[in-house]
Amino acid sequence: MTVRVRIAPSPTGDPHVGTAYVALFNRTWAHKNGGQFLLRIEDTDRVRSTKESEKMIFDSLGWLGLTWDEGPDIGGPFGPYRQSERVETYLKHATGLVEKGAAYYCTCTADRLEAVRKAQAAAKLAPRYDGHCRNLPATEVRKQIDAGAPWVIRLKVASDGECRFKDVVRGEVVFAWDQIDDQILLKSDGWPTYHLANVVDDHLMEITHVIRAEEWISSTPKHIKLYEVFGWEPPVWCHVPLLRNKDRTKISKRKNPTSLRWYEEQGYLPEALVNFLALMGFSMPENREIFTPAEMQEHFHIDRINAGGPVFDMEKLDWVNGQYIRKLPAEELARRLGPFGAAGHDPALVARIVPLIQDRLRVLSDYKDLTAFFFGDALAYEAATLVGKKQTVPDVQGHLRAARETLAATPWDAAALETRLKELAATRNVKVGELFMPVRVAVTGRTATPPLDRTLEVLGRERSLARLDAAIAKLAAPAKAPETP
Ligand code: GLU
Repeated sequence: MTVRVRIAPSPTGDPHVGTAYVALFNRTWAHKNGGQFLLRIEDTDRVRSTKESEKMIFDSLGWLGLTWDEGPDIGGPFGPYRQSERVETYLKHATGLVEKGAAYYCTCTADRLEAVRKAQAAAKLAPRYDGHCRNLPATEVRKQIDAGAPWVIRLKVASDGECRFKDVVRGEVVFAWDQIDDQILLKSDGWPTYHLANVVDDHLMEITHVIRAEEWISSTPKHIKLYEVFGWEPPVWCHVPLLRNKDRTKISKRKNPTSLRWYEEQGYLPEALVNFLALMGFSMPENREIFTPAEMQEHFHIDRINAGGPVFDMEKLDWVNGQYIRKLPAEELARRLGPFGAAGHDPALVARIVPLIQDRLRVLSDYKDLTAFFFGDALAYEAATLVGKKQTVPDVQGHLRAARETLAATPWDAAALETRLKELAATRNVKVGELFMPVRVAVTGRTATPPLDRTLEVLGRERSLARLDAAIAKLAAPAKAPETP
């Protein structure tokens, strides 16, 4: 048997991090078994589905390298892979079920359904279709349809007994049939609901394993019923735990960024995000935390997906991202920083800056802020920043003047600059930090920067000395009088 799996996102809104998470497990499982991973677009919600959203799904999954073997954009032997292009197929299957007696036409109006719902709520019953049309003679319903009444097709679901099935992650799962509604399969506009389209396609596309988020598990009895009445072999069910916010609720925009585009725009590396997502549901031998997709594939098995709801921990993601950033060759990092501002800068200068910030980048979009002082002339900082807690203004003025004089006479390379500044601190009988800090603030405007010697080297003599002059002038200027009201 060839393993065939799919993800089936609905193109509504921003592509979700959960889609990538489920895609990763599906794709890894398919490829581990020499099978195929499909992308199917479930765009039967005609109001909410958009082409832009579909394109974002392609782009975001492509960005992550979670590419598919068959899909709407690349085709394949089981296409079309967009449900809006398969509407005829669903209609045919739904009417086929009516002919078999496994489904029925229903002409209940919205008003009637609303009245039923209200009565159920008043009686504290779970809302469900009351079976009105199921119990009418078919000729009666036919008459209404012929007279122009709008209709839907509903699935006949048993009202007693249990639906039992095996789930790879959760073991045996049991639902009482009387909890399951007579699901609408075909809507009044002739379009299918998720349940019908999903099952028909999974069958026709020869899907062997349904690996999807656990939020769909309550739909599974309806799907099992459909497989049964169609007379088809159901796939292996594998419901993976939902990603969770820190408070363990289902991951949500309000508490956690969920859009894959956000992660891309922030400058998370795609390989880091994929590694992080893998950690959310799967453990490598010896709990190794950094690994490649190929290494994951070697050790992955759907039996080993962790059942506990993984918490999407941004600090952990930042850590993983940091690991990947530190590992990149500097030229590659410079290339990846291009869209984050580096593309607009002199490549030779970028090449010198990158090694200085490589250890300090949390995400690629930190580039602008971390490197701003290498560009432009004037720095904006308060004179007070130059003066350490235990220092006086005259102390610092003295240090800056002496540093300026020393640096002006030093060959401009990091090693020499460091040696001479350290010697100067010794001569002035102060700790290295007491001299370095005001120099650092003077040339960068900040108290935290890459190592001072290398920063000076990259800034260059002229600019460094000019900034020291500006700092000396800043300290000499009388402090601004407080504004009078
Ligand atoms: N269209 C569903 C979704 O948006 C597919 C769920 C499934 O995989 O069955 O995720």
